[in-house]
Amino acid sequence: RSPWQRARVVVAGLGTSGFTAADALLELGADVLVLDDAENDLNRDKGTLLEHLDGRVRLGPGASAQLPADADLVITSPGWRPDNTLLAQAAARGVPIWGDVELAWRLMHPDRVVPWLGVTGTNGKTTTTQMLDSMLRAAGLRSAAVGNIGRPIIEALNDDVPYDVFAVELSSFQLHWTSSIELHSAAVLNLHPDHLEWYGPWLGGADEAMRGYRDDKARIYHMVRHSCVYNVAEPQTEHMVEEAEVVEGARAIGFTLEIPAVSMLGVVDDLLVDRAFVPQRRDSALPLASVSDVQPNAPHNIENALAAAALARSFGVPAGAVAAGLRTLHLGGHRIQTVAQTGGVRWVDDSKATNPHAANASMRAFDSIVWIAGGQTKGTTFDDLVTTHAGRLRAAVLLGVDRAVIAEALARHAPQVPVVVIDRPDTGAMAEAVEAAARFARPGDTVLLAPGSASRDMWTGYDARGDDFAAAVKAVQRKEG
Ligand code: ADP
Repeated sequence: RSPWQRARVVVAGLGTSGFTAADALLELGADVLVLDDAENDLNRDKGTLLEHLDGRVRLGPGASAQLPADADLVITSPGWRPDNTLLAQAAARGVPIWGDVELAWRLMHPDRVVPWLGVTGTNGKTTTTQMLDSMLRAAGLRSAAVGNIGRPIIEALNDDVPYDVFAVELSSFQLHWTSSIELHSAAVLNLHPDHLEWYGPWLGGADEAMRGYRDDKARIYHMVRHSCVYNVAEPQTEHMVEEAEVVEGARAIGFTLEIPAVSMLGVVDDLLVDRAFVPQRRDSALPLASVSDVQPNAPHNIENALAAAALARSFGVPAGAVAAGLRTLHLGGHRIQTVAQTGGVRWVDDSKATNPHAANASMRAFDSIVWIAGGQTKGTTFDDLVTTHAGRLRAAVLLGVDRAVIAEALARHAPQVPVVVIDRPDTGAMAEAVEAAARFARPGDTVLLAPGSASRDMWTGYDARGDDFAAAVKAVQRKEG
């Protein structure tokens, strides 16, 4: 009999992960109750599950105000904060709270445990996870890219494919709600301020928020069996490895854009090379791929490729498959994607740059920029970003709920840069922003949408924001043409 028979499980939040979790738990015979304070179209679409649940679902304002007295377990949507009423009640009563990632780990059949290679970090997670998945496939392994990348792990567990390995993207929120996952190998790509509005309210001040964010990222290394991959240029990530409790024999593997030391992957001339997963001779470095196999081959993306290669190599992927995996990969849109090029002006969509550190990566790539930015800044500051790039800004066009945060940083550190602020609180703001940007742009300029902020103040996600940008660019060109 399944241990889940009649277990009383509350699923908090009917997003993609909650939906998949509820579905799997029902299948196992659990007594599921789904709670969600929102009653939106997305939720109503989940018709068959809702029928299945047969009344054991409460949607709408106040639905999650009270934890049922007999709850055995809460599966929370990763975005719910620990100070949420329902979760606080569960914690006070000693009811375990898991995220869907923890649930997936526990639902894996003991005879068919699929090893996880995990990726986290402030930026580059999705790209690195895609690169890793591509390398694993090139090596002939049955792999799936899962987790925060968009496909819940639980869903892949239900596939008919006997997977050899999962390439798992993990967010700090997902990691927060894990307690027993043990990865084969794991990488933290980088660590910069983001999501501080999630950590601040229940941890106290800004320093505590950053600490909480860091500690959640560090959980990915807990009980790693094979390799903890860190970024040599970011000592914080190496400290996380040093502090982590791991399985005996697990190794720390660095990646660097420079010539690698022993136990590192790095770059020599135009080659990505491995000095970690090679016979232990002092001078042995194995070429894996050429820098030009990485597209785009901007420095931040070479780092992503090195991290992916380290994880793949830790799983026995041969050098040829690392190169082949990189060559055959086509990245998703909205990541430094050129959407138009006319009259000497290039229009670039980096809508996926949802925090200042990500925006920094794309701004570095261009010389003269008309910058479109703004959205939800999530407690981060823009002073460093603006100071670093003041010299390459022709103009800035700001939109979104926290536009003032960026306007103030510009006024402080780049007073010479002309700024246009779009005050409209709806998605129409993008068309106005693009029109304003077109008026500033001169031949040789790049109009760069690198918001440095999340999109949910106006859009359903970064992809919708990027699509609106591309559409507005087309409209402006039609007018001009
Ligand atoms: P995530 O999944 O962590 O949000 P993505 O791979 O989707 O990251 O990339 C998001 C954006 O972050 C990209 O558009 C790019 O501007 C920037 N970026 C990607 N990789 C890195 C990196 N290693 N360091 C800094 N910025 C990066």
